[in-house]
Amino acid sequence: MPIIKPLDQAVVNLIAAGEIIVAPVNALKELIENSVDAGSTMIDIQTMEGGLKMLQIQDNGCGIGEEDLELLCVRHTTSKLQVFEDLREIETYGFRGEALASISHIAHVKVTTKTRESARAFMAKYEGPKLIPPVEKRAGNPGTRITVEDLFYNVPNRRRAFRSGNDEFNKILEMVSRYAVHCSRVGFTLKKLDGKGSSKMPISLPTDMGILQRISALFGAATSKELFEFQTADKRYDFKASGWSSNANFSLKKMNLLLFINNRSVESSNIKKALDQTYAAFLPKGGHPWIYLSILISPRNVDVNVHPTKREVNFIAEDEIIQCICEEIRSKMTAVDSSRTFFTQT
Ligand code: ADP
Ligand code: MG
Repeated sequence: MPIIKPLDQAVVNLIAAGEIIVAPVNALKELIENSVDAGSTMIDIQTMEGGLKMLQIQDNGCGIGEEDLELLCVRHTTSKLQVFEDLREIETYGFRGEALASISHIAHVKVTTKTRESARAFMAKYEGPKLIPPVEKRAGNPGTRITVEDLFYNVPNRRRAFRSGNDEFNKILEMVSRYAVHCSRVGFTLKKLDGKGSSKMPISLPTDMGILQRISALFGAATSKELFEFQTADKRYDFKASGWSSNANFSLKKMNLLLFINNRSVESSNIKKALDQTYAAFLPKGGHPWIYLSILISPRNVDVNVHPTKREVNFIAEDEIIQCICEEIRSKMTAVDSSRTFFTQT
């Protein structure tokens, strides 16, 4: 008797889902990226118990056609990628058709959506990747509302590992803040419901609010008033970088880096280390900067496929690009520094 047998498909799906959605914030990030891809100018988010009980995102983007609801949550179905070659050129956030599939495997998903062309909105419920008929007709505005309930209901060990909804909410708050700074032409609200009828709204930014006002609302005026803008580019490495960075008057106990590569919020310990070294020359010992950095790299030079949560990104000429950015920040800091000295001397 052979002892190697294929795993049940349901188990395979649960494992795959668990690799992409580790916590509610991972689900929310995917949903925000979908809403931004859909061309939304307003994104409203609601959570209950840090997104574990309920996570809802409402956008005013292009909506989903009735005919696409059937495949919406099926793995590897997407409107964004046709052949493997497209992977290199793809500019949109999503590309693997895996987010909604993963979420639907480990939570109850409900979608209400309306395209601009459609006279009606449609409401669909999913059990795993399957649409549970009937699709209900509704009145509604153009856009999409996705409600995710009871995340990890069928992965009890994972669910139990979350002790407090507050920790999960704080991760959500941080992620929404990052996207609200980066997507500065999209309005964002974030609401925390307590399930007993009252709520708090820690984020409320209208569509037309400028980036510095956003940073001030999200990170405090003490931060926003000490920032300078920078930008740099280099054809040799096919990249552009821009952002806002704190000056020598400002320092934090821990660095706060809002890093976006090709419009996706990511982490990079290499970039963080290089920026900290750059600032070490300007800040008192133990001081660290606040930095929002957006890097656009030719998609053919980036490998976003390395990690299932797409958090760590690898790219070609990483060292050279990091050096260009740090050089730009250093020269801006030095310019500010010498103008200050000059000013005090006269
Ligand atoms: P991907 O983003 O990789 O395509 P997803 O599972 O995240 O995969 O989404 C599947 C498809 O569902 C998308 O390609 C898009 O066509 C559609 N979709 C998802 N969310 C939205 C949204 N908020 N507005 C419009 N279409 C959406
Ligand atoms: Mg997506």
